[in-house]
Amino acid sequence: MRTQKELEEERKRVGPLKLDLAFRSERRPESLNNRNGLRLLDPRTLESDFQDWARDSVIEHKLPGLRGVHIRLKLGDITSKDARQLAELVRRFSANELKVSIGQNLYLPWVREEELADLYASLKQIGLADSGVGTVADVTTCPGADTCRLGIASAKGLGTAISEAFERRLSEYQELARLLRIKISGCPNGCAQHGIADIGFHAAALSHEGRTIPAHLLFVGGRTDPGSATFARMLGKFPAKNCVDVIATLLRVYKQEKSPTEEFCEFVNRFGDSKLKEELEKWRMPKSFDADPGFYEDFGHQNESFAVRPGIKGECADKIVPETEPHIQTAREGLAQAEAYLYHKEFEHSVRAAYDAAAAAARVSLYARLVDPFTSDEAFWEFENLFILSGQTQGAWANLSSRFRELREAETNEPNTRTMLNVAKEFVNYCEQFSQLPCTTS
Ligand code: SF4
Repeated sequence: MRTQKELEEERKRVGPLKLDLAFRSERRPESLNNRNGLRLLDPRTLESDFQDWARDSVIEHKLPGLRGVHIRLKLGDITSKDARQLAELVRRFSANELKVSIGQNLYLPWVREEELADLYASLKQIGLADSGVGTVADVTTCPGADTCRLGIASAKGLGTAISEAFERRLSEYQELARLLRIKISGCPNGCAQHGIADIGFHAAALSHEGRTIPAHLLFVGGRTDPGSATFARMLGKFPAKNCVDVIATLLRVYKQEKSPTEEFCEFVNRFGDSKLKEELEKWRMPKSFDADPGFYEDFGHQNESFAVRPGIKGECADKIVPETEPHIQTAREGLAQAEAYLYHKEFEHSVRAAYDAAAAAARVSLYARLVDPFTSDEAFWEFENLFILSGQTQGAWANLSSRFRELREAETNEPNTRTMLNVAKEFVNYCEQFSQLPCTTS
C-alpha cells in the first residue's frame, strides 16, 4: 500500500494531465489517424470538471499509454444497479479488470489515455464521477450502528456530515488538508482503522441530564509511513454533533500554527496534546435537551431517541464485546422507560421505547431458535414468521408487525401513546409465558 506522501509525489509527477500525452498520434484510433493530417485534441479534457476529477482519480501507469483510474464511492457504498452499469464500463475501458482499494473505493488498472474523456463522461452518466478520491473529504467509515450489531453510534452518519462539511463550511481547508485521512469506527474494535488516521474517531456514548448522547472519541496523529508508523493518540470524548466543530478547530489551529512545510502529523506532535486539548475544550460539553433536542439524536436517525444497544455477537471482531442473551427483564425495563417518558409527556420517545421494549420481548423466544435479529422491525417480522404464521401462537397476535408499525406511526398524542404502551405491555406479558413453552419446530 502506498503512503500518503508517495501518493502525493505520484500525483505531482503525473498531473495535471498533459494533452500531448493523452492524445499522442500513435495512440489515436486507427480510423482517425489520417483525417486531414490535423492533430486531434479532445476539448472535453480542458473542462474544469474533467481536470478536477483527473487530478485526484488518474494516476501514472508502468506501461506507456495507460493510466490507472480510481473511482470514488462515498463511504464505500454502491447500489447493485450502479455496479451492473459499472461492470459494462470495466469491460469497455479496463480490460475486464476492477480492484477494490483499501480506502473503500474502486480502481480501474488498464485505461488507455485517449479514452480518459470517454470514461469520465460514462462514469458521469451513472453518477460515479465524483472528484476528491483519496482526499480529506473521502472519509472512511465502518458500517457502525447502522448495520453492525457491535456499533455504538452511526459512523456513516458522522462520515457523511464531515464529507458534506468540506463542501461548505470547511471548504476553506480543502487544499490545506487535502491529503489528510479521516477514519471513523463505530466501536473500539476499529474496523475503519481510526488508529492509523491523521484524524480518527470511534463511537461511544455520553450521559447528560439523565439522557444518553451519541459521542465519539477523538484520535490524532496516526500514520503508516514506512519507518515512522505511529498509532494515533486519544484526545478526549466529544458529543457526535460537535465532531465537525472539533475538526474545524483542529484545522484552524493547524493553519495558524504550522510551519511552512509541516505536515499535520508532525504539527500535532510538536504542538502537543495539552495545548490541543485546551483548544478543543469548548466542544466537550453537550447542549441541554431544552436548548437542542437534536443533539440527543444520532446522525441519520432524526426523531429516534439514542440508546446504546446491548452488545451481542457481531459481524466482525466479535470477541471483544461479549454476546448477551436477550432476557424478558430488558423488555420490562424498556416499558418502565416508556412509562417515564409518557409521565413527562415526551410522547415520541415513549412510543419508541414501548416499541423497542415489545421487540426486546420478541427476541427472547427467537433467541431460543437461534434467531438474532438486527433491529426491532426485524424482531417483529421474525416473530410473526416463526411463531404466528406457523400456528404456534394459536391465532394470537395476528399481523403483529403491521399492528405495531401502525401504532408507532400514529399521530403523536397522549391517547395514542397510552394505547401503544398498553399493547406493548400485553405483548411483553404474552412473550414471557410463550418463552417458557417447549420449543417446537414448525
Ligand atoms: S465491530 Fe467493526 S464494523 Fe462493527 S461497529 Fe465496531 S468497528 Fe464498526
